[in-house]
Amino acid sequence: MTDHTDVTTLPVLDHWIDGALTAGDSSRLGPVFDPALGQQTKSVRLGSAADVGTAVAAAKAAFDGPGGWGRASIAKRQQVIFAFRELLNARKGDLAAILTSEHGKVLSDAAGEVARGLEVVEFACGMPHLAKGSYSESVSTDVDVYSVKEPLGVVGIISPFNFPAMVPMWFFPIAIAAGNTVVLKPSEKDPSVANWMAALLTEAGLPDGVFNVVHGDKEAVDALLEHPDVASVSFVGSTPIAQYVYEKGTASGKRVQALGGAKNHMLVLPDADLDLVADACVNAGFGSAGERCMAISVVLAVDPVGDALIEKITDRMGKLVTGDGRGAADMGPLITREHRDKVAGYLDVAPADGATVVVDGRETQIDGAADGFWLGPSLVDHVPTDSRVYTEEIFGPVLSIVRIASYAEGVELINSGPYGNGTAIFTNDGGAARRFQREVEVGMVGINVPIPVPVAYHSFGGWKASIFGDAKAYGPHGVDFFTREKAVTARWLDPATHGGINLGFPQNT
Ligand code: NAD
Repeated sequence: MTDHTDVTTLPVLDHWIDGALTAGDSSRLGPVFDPALGQQTKSVRLGSAADVGTAVAAAKAAFDGPGGWGRASIAKRQQVIFAFRELLNARKGDLAAILTSEHGKVLSDAAGEVARGLEVVEFACGMPHLAKGSYSESVSTDVDVYSVKEPLGVVGIISPFNFPAMVPMWFFPIAIAAGNTVVLKPSEKDPSVANWMAALLTEAGLPDGVFNVVHGDKEAVDALLEHPDVASVSFVGSTPIAQYVYEKGTASGKRVQALGGAKNHMLVLPDADLDLVADACVNAGFGSAGERCMAISVVLAVDPVGDALIEKITDRMGKLVTGDGRGAADMGPLITREHRDKVAGYLDVAPADGATVVVDGRETQIDGAADGFWLGPSLVDHVPTDSRVYTEEIFGPVLSIVRIASYAEGVELINSGPYGNGTAIFTNDGGAARRFQREVEVGMVGINVPIPVPVAYHSFGGWKASIFGDAKAYGPHGVDFFTREKAVTARWLDPATHGGINLGFPQNT
């Protein structure tokens, strides 16, 4: 069916700069869809370098000076973050509904996303403790040394489509609580939640200019990466763009953390509880239609579990409802028609590559509008490790089974892949689990837990091509990333010990 919507009559989402909506300078617009309907519902402005410049100037003005956010008392900053936490908690259902309407994930999943973002807000409420410095008295006669953690200034955040609320919340609560001001460039595919959160921050008492949103694409990203007043960039997205952002940002002197793509494996040993495993495969493979960087994409089934596991997974898949996330569906649509077609393309090529399509999501009966960007949950067995289904990040509801002979073969496969975001082992053997934890070269490891996303007070991040830069997201890494330490050596002279002239190198006495 053709969409006959006259897009010129649709609402246009503006930038949020200096506490207000603004159309900015660019005339370029991007489409925003309701993926379950397959219809464009609004347009979003695609900001120019000048728009980024306006937002950075607002953020810098809000940071600078004696009255600026950079010098606001810890008490004031904490009060605002705490108020934001209260408002967000009270209205999380509203945020989840917006999220579902633009991303497509089912409402319960959207609520889960908001809850995980809220955890980081709660962590940031502890900033008075987290950003405490340290003090050493009398390191030398009448000399004390102390270190303080200061904010960086204006920080940039660039986020992906798959977690439009949670991923920005991995960063901005900590950045703001630490005294920075922010320019967020959200994904242009589901941009509305960014404006919603900006308005909520204002309602929570955040001064204008501390949190700004510039919508856009590569042009806005490049402008942020090049702007001399942007001190740091936190990026989350696909690996090629993460690497680009890291290289360009660091080349212009910025502190950069860039989290990239993933291909997460679950290793199933023969002694595992196969019902637990099958539940985990379905939840972690098809939740959010597989559009999670911590989704399980590949199951490594150690002989002889393969056939029994396939049967249990297939049985569970048969009960899943794919449809509009506002209804009773378990799984929603994909983000765009192009992405849906790309993911379905893997099912097209899988047989020629030697794999067997056991459950074909192209044939799934859908509980939703005809034009939605649908692809049902799909299961591919006997996937060869040189096939595209195995080697590429699919980022959709396609779960691959690779049959292997041993634990060692599984670890070797995981460690030889380019990514190192998440992995899981399922076993009842504590020794094997412990060995896996030690031997696997992946940043986040689950033991009988399929999506091992660390809680807010540990840090989130992978290894290898899943991250560029040394700092992971949130937790202790987040606090370090958004602050820089200053060590002060101070001498307060006591008349009794006044020193006199000494041209020698200062020694501690
Ligand atoms: P993406 O890389 O296409 O986009 C991410 C951001 O980069 C968006 O804001 C986008 O506007 C911008 N961007 C896109 N193309 C660009 C270009 N050429 N130059 C500069 N900026 C550009 O990613 P996506 O499709 O939005 O998100 C899915 C990807 O993100 C997957 O690869 C997924 O694994 C990854 N992801 C990783 C994590 C993690 O924590 N490691 C978390 C979520 C998503």
